[in-house]
Amino acid sequence: MKEMRKTRLEDDHFHDQCGVFGIFGHPEAANLTYLGLHALQHRGQESAGIASSDGSRLFAERGMGHVGKVFSKSNLDRLAGNMAIGHVRYSTAGESKLVNAQPLRIESGRGEMAIAHNGNLVNAARMRGDLERTGSIFQTTSDTEVILHLIARSSRENLEEAIVDALQQVEGAFSLVFLFPGKMIAVRDPRGFRPLSLGRLGSATLITSESCALDLIDAEFVRDLQPGEMMVVTEDGIASYHPFPQAKPAPCIFEYIYFARPDSLLYGRSVNVVRRALGVELAREQPAPADVVVPVPDSGVSAALGYARESGIPFEFGLVRNHYVGRTFIEPRQSIRHFGVKLKLNPVRNLITGKRVVLVDDSIVRGTTSRKIVAMVRAAGAREIHVRISCPPTTGPCHYGIDTPRRSELIASSHTVEEIRKFIQADSLGYLSRDGMYRAVGDLQAELCDACFTGNYPVPIPRETKASLKAAGKSSR
Ligand code: SF4
Repeated sequence: MKEMRKTRLEDDHFHDQCGVFGIFGHPEAANLTYLGLHALQHRGQESAGIASSDGSRLFAERGMGHVGKVFSKSNLDRLAGNMAIGHVRYSTAGESKLVNAQPLRIESGRGEMAIAHNGNLVNAARMRGDLERTGSIFQTTSDTEVILHLIARSSRENLEEAIVDALQQVEGAFSLVFLFPGKMIAVRDPRGFRPLSLGRLGSATLITSESCALDLIDAEFVRDLQPGEMMVVTEDGIASYHPFPQAKPAPCIFEYIYFARPDSLLYGRSVNVVRRALGVELAREQPAPADVVVPVPDSGVSAALGYARESGIPFEFGLVRNHYVGRTFIEPRQSIRHFGVKLKLNPVRNLITGKRVVLVDDSIVRGTTSRKIVAMVRAAGAREIHVRISCPPTTGPCHYGIDTPRRSELIASSHTVEEIRKFIQADSLGYLSRDGMYRAVGDLQAELCDACFTGNYPVPIPRETKASLKAAGKSSR
C-alpha cells in the first residue's frame, strides 16, 4: 500500500500561533475560559487546554483538536476553582502532540504552576541545551518548558522575581499567563510582539490574546497590556510592574492584516477598520478595470469591502468558503489533485461568469493556492482576473510565533511581482506598498514589527536557532 500523506487543507497563509486566556475571581472560571477559547479558536486548532485552581491545588485538562472536541461537561466539571487559564495551540515550536499541549503544568520546589504561552523564543535551543547539560529533564519539545525550568531553578525566593529572572534570560516573543494556587500572572515581552489584553467581568479580572473573547462572555475590554508589562492578580487586587529594560516596541503588523479576528481591538484600533483602510489604500495604489470585487474569504473580506468602496466597483461574495473542513489524510492522485482548495472554496458562477474580477486576498505565501484559486475563478467563466494583495510581498519568515515556511518557499523572496503574476496566471497582480500599509494602520509605524516584509528583525536570531530550524525544515534566514 502506498504511504498515506498528511496534508494540511489550509490556505497558503502564514499561520496563527496560539491564543491564551485567563480569569481570576469568578465562580465559573473554567466554563468562561472554555467559552473564551472558543472565541480564540482561529489562533490555534491543534490542541486546547485549561488549568484551574481552587486556591490550594491546580487542576488541568488538555487534549488534541478543537476546543469543542477536547472539552465535555465531565472534564470541565473537574476544573474546580474561581481562577483558570486556557490555551489553544498551533505548533510553532515543538511537535504537534499531546505532551506539548498547553497549559503546561509542573510541580517544583516552588509548588504547582501552569503556563500558557503565545509567541516563540528565539534562543530556546541554546537555553534548553544549557539546562539539559546541568541536569534538567524536559517533558516536552516545546520552547515554553524552558521558562518553567528557569523559574524552578531561579535563586530568587520571591515568585515574581523568579519569573522576571527567568524571562530576562529568554529572547523573542512571549505573551504569557501563569497560574499558581491563589495567583494569576500575565506578562508581555518587552517588544510586545504578540497581543495581550486586560478585561473585566464584574469583579473578575480577565486576560486574553484578543478582545473578541471578552465580547463572547459579556466582559468589558479595559486596555492592552503594555510591552514589557507584568500584571499580578490576587485576592488583594491587581499590581502592575515594568520589570524589564525598555526596548523599542514591535507588535506584529500581520495581526492587523490577517491573524486577528476583525471584531477584535488591537493596539488600540479596530482590526476591521484597519483592514478596510488597507483595502482603500490598495484601491488607490492598484486600481483595476473591473466589474466586480470578490474577496478570498474570510480574511480578504474586510480589505475587499474597502477596495470596493474606494473604487466604486460592486462587491460580491463570488467565492463561498466551507467552514467545516479541517485536516484530513489524502492519497494524492491526479483525479483529485486540486480537491484541497475546492473543499474550502467554491465560486458562485452567476456572480463571476463573463465578468472582469478583482480578487482581493491578504497575502501570497508560496503562490500555489493563489494559482489554484485563479484557475477556479477562470473556470467559473471570469473574463479577466486582477489579483490584489492588501500588504507588501512577504519575503522573509517569522521567528516570533508565526508558523511560516522556509524562506526559499516564500515566492516573493525570489520572484518579481511580474514573475509571481505569471505563476498564478492572473491578468494583473498588485500588492499594497509599505507606505500604503502604514497609512492604513495610522500613526503606529515606528512601533510595529514588519520583518517578514522588510527583513528588519527587531530581535536577532541566534546562529544555533537558525541551524536547528534548518534541520527541522522550518524557516531560516
Ligand atoms: Fe509579525 Fe511578520 Fe514580525 Fe512575525 S516577522 S512578528 S509575522 S510582522
